[in-house]
Amino acid sequence: MPAVRRPSGAPGAGAVARATAGRPAVPGLVDPSGRTAVDLRVSLTDRCNLRCGYCMPPEGLDWMPAGELLDDDEVVRLVRVAVEHLGVTEVRYTGGEPLLRRGLERVVAATTALRTADGRAVEASMTTNALGLDKRAAALAAAGLRRINVSLDTLRPERFAAITRRDRHADVLAGVAAAAAAGIGPVKVNAVLLPGVNDDEAPELLAWALAAGYELRVIEQMPIDAQGAWSREGLVTADDVVASLRTAFDLEDDDPAARGGAPAQTYRVRARGADPTSAPLGRVGVIASVTRPFCEACDRTRLTADGQVRSCLFSTSETDLRALLRGGASDDEVADVWRAAMWGKAPAHGVGEAEPVTASGFARPSRSMSAIGG
Ligand code: SAM
Ligand code: SF4
Repeated sequence: MPAVRRPSGAPGAGAVARATAGRPAVPGLVDPSGRTAVDLRVSLTDRCNLRCGYCMPPEGLDWMPAGELLDDDEVVRLVRVAVEHLGVTEVRYTGGEPLLRRGLERVVAATTALRTADGRAVEASMTTNALGLDKRAAALAAAGLRRINVSLDTLRPERFAAITRRDRHADVLAGVAAAAAAGIGPVKVNAVLLPGVNDDEAPELLAWALAAGYELRVIEQMPIDAQGAWSREGLVTADDVVASLRTAFDLEDDDPAARGGAPAQTYRVRARGADPTSAPLGRVGVIASVTRPFCEACDRTRLTADGQVRSCLFSTSETDLRALLRGGASDDEVADVWRAAMWGKAPAHGVGEAEPVTASGFARPSRSMSAIGG
């Protein structure tokens, strides 16, 4: 048997045993707070073709050098380890912008062919800005992509250009329509509302989404932008969003017990004054990451485009799986290190803990959103 070359930086068996002291002997990704991660977020690139002001500066960021990114085979191998050894059942591709990854269709097809150790299929989904999706939606559907979240903060092209610093509104609309036409669904539309920019647009976005058969998800802006410009003063809260939507619609809370690990509080939507026993027009979700964090139900594990495992979006540390892969580690060794990383998961991210909520009450994560994978 060839010896495993263990690169510097990759934990050895002793380090893994120390990091997992007290961990129950189960195959899954458990943590000391009793949570099990089954939902894997994979960033395929840190690059993006938009420059949303709440995410990155106008000039972009220092992108990762190509050699540091996992190649397609490495991504697929890590996803396979997560599914076959660690019980992951959902894989969401994100970035940066995942559509900038040429091998995306191949990676999705390889993912949807996987089965967990007890024979369960894997759901593959993607979060995207939808630029270029019109040309790739059919191939992605054929590769088995079932669900998609498209980010769209406004229905007004001039606002879109101001928020994203690119004049590409029509391309996003074409992309989302093509995804629905290709049978990818449900289509969810992610919107971040910014004070004085688009915070008046929640009812309009919801009306548009309902008419098209999409599900709107409004996300509270989080202090995870690259520039560190987030401020509590600027936050449009989940309560603000619900109040704004209730000026135009009746919202009925979905049973919180049915929410599971999902980040969104969802509501059934009816026209104002409609019979509450009538069929709803659809649903809307509000993600209160700052004002009502949902850490206790978190079932997520994250892999960055350069092969680092993060147990939380807001983690201040990461575990290097790329070094293990490139050093010749076996699948079992990779799985052990991944389990150890998740056993180090903090109980909560702490973003909303101080009252009033400030960004200073918690340690900022070591990377910004686009370099982690949102
Ligand atoms: N580029 C893709 C997109 O925009 O959908 C995928 C990556 S992006 C980082 C994933 C999601 O994170 C998007 O829905 C985006 O709106 C959201 N996002 C980015 N920065 C955010 C912030 N500071 N607070 C809340 N959500 C943010
Ligand atoms: Fe790009 Fe998505 Fe960040 Fe916007 S939110 S800049 S589309 S990565």
